[in-house]
Parts: sequence; C-alpha cells; structure tokens
Amino acid sequence: MRVNLLGYANDDQISDLVFERDFLWKNQEVTLAFVNGDQEKQLQFRRIYFQWFLSTHIHFKEVPLNHSADIRVGFGLDKQSSWSLIGSNSAFYSYDIKFGKIFRDHKKTNYPSLVVAFNTQREILHEGGHSIGFNHEHFHSLANISWKKSFIDGSMTPDLPHNYIKRNYLKKIAPNKSLGMFDT
Ligand SMILES: [Zn+2]
Repeated sequence: MRVNLLGYANDDQISDLVFERDFLWKNQEVTLAFVNGDQEKQLQFRRIYFQWFLSTHIHFKEVPLNHSADIRVGFGLDKQSSWSLIGSNSAFYSYDIKFGKIFRDHKKTNYPSLVVAFNTQREILHEGGHSIGFNHEHFHSLANISWKKSFIDGSMTPDLPHNYIKRNYLKKIAPNKSLGMFDT
C-alpha cells in the first residue's frame, strides 16, 4: 500500500493505520544524521530504515550531524531501550537521556531523536515507523483488544513497570487525536 504522509494525507488510504495527524511530515525532504555508530552499523540502519521511503512520499536525505538534521539516530545510547520521537516532533525536540527529558532542541547537532539498542531489523523498522508519524496498531480506536486482567494489572510481566504497560499497550488513539510526542 502506498501511504501519503504529507499533511493532506488521504484518509481512505491510511484510515487503517494509527498515525499522528499533527506530527506527519509536511515537507517532502527529511534530513537524517547519525549521532554515533561505526560504518557497519550505519550501513545496516540505512539499508533497513530507508525501506520506509518506498511507502511514503518522504525523501530522506542523509547529512552530517552538524547540519541540524530533522532526525538524529543513535545506537545503544540508552541501555537496552529503543525509542523515537513521533514524526515531525523530531525536527524540534530531542531527548536528553541523562536527565530523562524531552527538550526543545534549537541546535539539533548532538542529541538523538531516535535510538536503537541493538540495531536489529525489528527495532529499526519499529522506531523508524514512529519517526515518520505512525503509532502502535493496538492503539487503534477500533482495535477492540481484550487484554488479560493479569496483563493490565502487571502481574503477568513483573519485570515491566506499570507505566510502560500503560504507555505502550493500553492507551487508545481517538480518530484525529494525538497521543503525545514520544514512544518506545
Ligand atoms: Zn513503539
């Protein structure tokens, strides 16, 4: 399916996907830079991430980090966590890992907007999807998932913080409404 992710997104085509209308990329060219990582890592990321290019109207352009890229990619910078800002938020904000805070980033030459922990295909495509404005399919207002009680109350997965379960599984995105700028 071809998905138009510009501001005038065609609702017929993307109504089944969970996307953040306010955070879709309006511009056609989106720049991307790497915060760290050797050539091999960057090549692997590029090869997989750029598959998103095929299904959108976005033209990704790689630039050096000191060029204030719209999306800034880091490898293994946040322990075992992978995450991304949602869509065009990446062009205005960064995440300060040390302080655990999203902040308005005027420079965009240092901090990441997307981090993958292990640079696997799954992580790159998942976080890559967030970076172009998608969110989790189970947030769809019509998904109608009946979660097990033991999952909702956290007893099924004692290792997961309850906030994480709430943030990543239990919330619902209403049509035409945004859930926020950050996701894992
Ligand atoms: Zn996610």
